[in-house]
Parts: sequence; structure tokens; C-alpha cells
Amino acid sequence: MYDYDLLVVGSANADLVIGVERRPGAGETVLGSDLAVHPGGKGANQAVAAARLGSRTALLARVGDDAYGRLLLDSQREAGVDTVGVLVGGAPTGVALITVDPSGDNSIVVSPGANGRLAPADVRAAACLFQAARVVSTQLEIPLDSVVEVVRGLTPDSRFVLNPSPPQPLPPEVLAACDPLIVNEHEAKVILGDACVSERPEDWASLLLAKGPRSVVVTLGAEGALVADADGVARVSSVKVDAVDTTGAGDAFTAALAFRLGAGASLAEAAAYAARVGAAAVTKQGAQESFPTAEEVDAL
Ligand code: ADP
Repeated sequence: MYDYDLLVVGSANADLVIGVERRPGAGETVLGSDLAVHPGGKGANQAVAAARLGSRTALLARVGDDAYGRLLLDSQREAGVDTVGVLVGGAPTGVALITVDPSGDNSIVVSPGANGRLAPADVRAAACLFQAARVVSTQLEIPLDSVVEVVRGLTPDSRFVLNPSPPQPLPPEVLAACDPLIVNEHEAKVILGDACVSERPEDWASLLLAKGPRSVVVTLGAEGALVADADGVARVSSVKVDAVDTTGAGDAFTAALAFRLGAGASLAEAAAYAARVGAAAVTKQGAQESFPTAEEVDAL
């Protein structure tokens, strides 16, 4: 019996957002809207998305001993995430400084802060969380050494889900553990690098699978997704919705997929459910604010 359906190891950021008429150039100062502060970071987003669907979820992350760290802890607890694995201190909480212009184009500066201090030793010290979780998911907004340590900390029965975002080349040891590796178009192209010899997503899925993961999912925005494993490549249709804001769609998709896999669904079943969750998330503004409950997914 597992205590958690999902353990998310990853980042937690405060997103500081200011609307501007025009994004400033070098040496320029512009006036903007009131500041909006949102809890974010891919790890924190995935944990909230899963918990909202009913997953018993724990987060292993690091935040600063500051007001943003407390905001992030509060938003996790409010969603029902167990924050026993959230470490506090060592550096300021990670922040993303975001300016958005009226056309929706943005400029973003990220200070990883405490996320960059989530060390391999922190991962090792959380062994009891790994033993208590059916599925472990992570992303690349924490040091790669720590992602390698996550893979080494997996129990023989646990399943590992990775969304390599922001993308970078991955060691074979990490690729081999992924079941699945979940990428969007941009991430697929970066991970494949020179091996990306085709514009067909079906080919990306096969080429990625050849790099070692046990399974692969390629998300295609409004076009849905592809799943690939030893049985071949299959398409997962999307749900038609009026998209308002796609921020966080990939995080919602990954969390939902990991949760359903832990509940015993096949990869194709889990991806079909995740596509509904991703579609629901794009119908509302924001990231964590837009993640649906299980009832909202059923109603879609
Ligand atoms: P990311 O946010 O990582 O770029 P995607 O944009 O591919 O990821 O979105 C993840 C998933 O969310 C998609 O596979 C799809 O199921 C769903 N989704 C995203 N955008 C839309 C949309 N406009 N309409 C319906 N579903 C969407």
C-alpha cells in the first residue's frame, strides 16, 4: 500500500507579472500595471494539478525562508499536497520576472534561487518519500545532478515520468528510466538534436524511443498528443475547447498522466485522460488557477 499516488520532485517559483504597453529595451524604464504574484514553477504546478484531480501527492522541492516561499507552501497545502518534503532556506525562493505586452508577448527573467540548491543529498535524504510513492515525476528546473539522483532513488516497483523542460541533452541513465518521457514539439527537437531528421511528430516519437526511454509521449497543443512504446506509435485526440490561456497546459497534462498511470491505466488511456485535463486547463487564465478538478474533467 502506497501513501502517495505521486511524488513530484521539482521547482517552485513565484511568478511576478506586470502588464506593460511595450516591453522595455536596454537602458529603458517603462511604467506597468499593478504587480500580480502567482505561485508557479513546473514542480509546484504538477503537484497542484495532480492533487486537484484527487491524487495523493507529495512535493520534494526547495524554497527560500521568505514571503514567496510561504506563499508557495500555502498554495500547495491549499490544494491538498503534502509539503513534508519541501525544504526551506539556502537561497531566496526562485522567481520569474515576467512582463507581458497587450499582444500577449512576454519577456521573462528567471532566478532559480532555492531551486538551484535542491541538491543530490536532499534527494537522497528523502528516500522515505520515494518508498511511499507509486509514481515519481520530475522536470529540469532543478540541477541535472539531482534529477540523476532521483532516478537512482527509484524503488524497483515505482514508475518514473520526466518532462525535460527546459530541455537539455540527457544522460542515458535518465533516458532509460523514463516511462514515459513527455515532450512538446520544442523539447522533442532539442532532445533529438542532430537526430531530428524529420518534421513528422510520429518520427520524433520513434526517434526518441530509440534513445532509450521505455515509452514516449509527444504533446501537440490543440492537436492532442502521440504515445509511443514497444507496441508502436498511436495518436491521442484532443478535446475541442475555446483556448483562453495555454500557460501550464503541459504541467497539467503531465500530472494527470502520471496520476492515471499510477492508478493502473495503460499509457494510451492515461494520455487520453491527460488530454482532457490539458484542454480544461487552457479554458481558464493562469497556471495553477486553471487546473481542473476531476468533476470538471468529467463534465468536459
Ligand atoms: P506545453 O504547454 O508543454 O507546450 P502543449 O501545448 O502541447 O504543452 O499542451 C499539452 C496538452 O494540453 C496537449 O497535448 C493537449 O492535450 C492539451 N492542450 C493544449 N492546448 C490545447 C488546446 N488549444 N485545445 C485543446 N487541448 C489543448
